[in-house]
Amino acid sequence: MLPSITELERKEDALLAPYAVKHSLSGGRIFTESSQEQRTCFQRDRDRIIHSKAFRRLGYKTQVFVNSEGDMFRTRLTHSMEVAQLSRSVTGYLDLNSDYAEALALAHDMGHSPFGHAGQEALNTLMKDHGGFEHNCQTLRIVSALESRYLEWNGLNLTRLTLIGMLKHARIYEGDVQLHEILEQRKGKSQPLEAAIVDTCDRLAYLHHDFEDGLDSGFLEPSDVLALAPFEMARIALEKQHGQSFTGARFALKARILVRFLLNDCITDLIETIKGNIATSRVETMSDVLSLSHDAYPVANSPAMKERLTVMQKFLHAKLYRHPNVLRMSRRGERIIENLFFEYNSRPDMMPEHYLTRTKVDGTARVVSDYISGMTDRFAEKDSAYLSGIG
Ligand code: MG
Repeated sequence: MLPSITELERKEDALLAPYAVKHSLSGGRIFTESSQEQRTCFQRDRDRIIHSKAFRRLGYKTQVFVNSEGDMFRTRLTHSMEVAQLSRSVTGYLDLNSDYAEALALAHDMGHSPFGHAGQEALNTLMKDHGGFEHNCQTLRIVSALESRYLEWNGLNLTRLTLIGMLKHARIYEGDVQLHEILEQRKGKSQPLEAAIVDTCDRLAYLHHDFEDGLDSGFLEPSDVLALAPFEMARIALEKQHGQSFTGARFALKARILVRFLLNDCITDLIETIKGNIATSRVETMSDVLSLSHDAYPVANSPAMKERLTVMQKFLHAKLYRHPNVLRMSRRGERIIENLFFEYNSRPDMMPEHYLTRTKVDGTARVVSDYISGMTDRFAEKDSAYLSGIG
């Protein structure tokens, strides 16, 4: 039985495109709650994510640059806000459900361990005999079990459709039985348009912003970036538009203008391509969208834009992600994760009481992985140094 919806939700549904995520399709919550007249169900999901502990910790976790390396780089928190902004713009323009997209965007990185991908890889290796570690599975685990804010249930009790939208690769940890019904509903189906737009905006946000942070850090050479075809094209267009005021601007300002130009162009391309694809795919409802095959799915950039993005991605892989200083930061992060895992796995009683009690149900390794992955970069650095007797 579908949940009853409020007047506010009914009004919003009437304004959305027929194939959008409607409030009437939220699927309700696993633990029944009364509806609230002041907020829609997806606004409530978004607000629960914002008020969670895991969300606050994103402020001290970074993707490329370790948080303690500098204050001006993006953190996972500012990145998540940028993804939410882009996702709201794209979905809003297409009459899709922006509140639903915003909730997914704000939550999308909540499961990341400290020290970015290096941290994730290290933890996954340490957990290989215990179901592994993967940030998306961890996000689902956090919102459905680990966050402790209610007397009646563990987790945030989000709507089923929000949980489905968060399940990116249709994978959960085996022990997360509370998510089995969500996994069943997600299996063999495509995502709502809003969820796919959030994924795309995530990639577009970090791809462009890593150029900005890479230049600010001095790891990327301005002359290398300017020689790259997309930046060359943007520079010519901006010189035409602004003349001397652009040519004579200091480089740091020019870099921001160039990145913004490229990102704007890319978002416009995304909106136009999706609009065209929806028209030809003739989807009429959300369930039509869910049954589309990968090849017929409408959320994508144009082929020409995809080529541009590949050029930018390859450059970042060669020049930034494999920069000796980035590799050194990553190695340091791995060492810290390995050290913490060894310490807490051999002495789980050093973890806070509410973690220790969960080892009986979830096993020691999984709880240690929850504890370490929840740490911020700076907490993990400090704790590892302390336990090694050097901090
Ligand atoms: Mg992200």
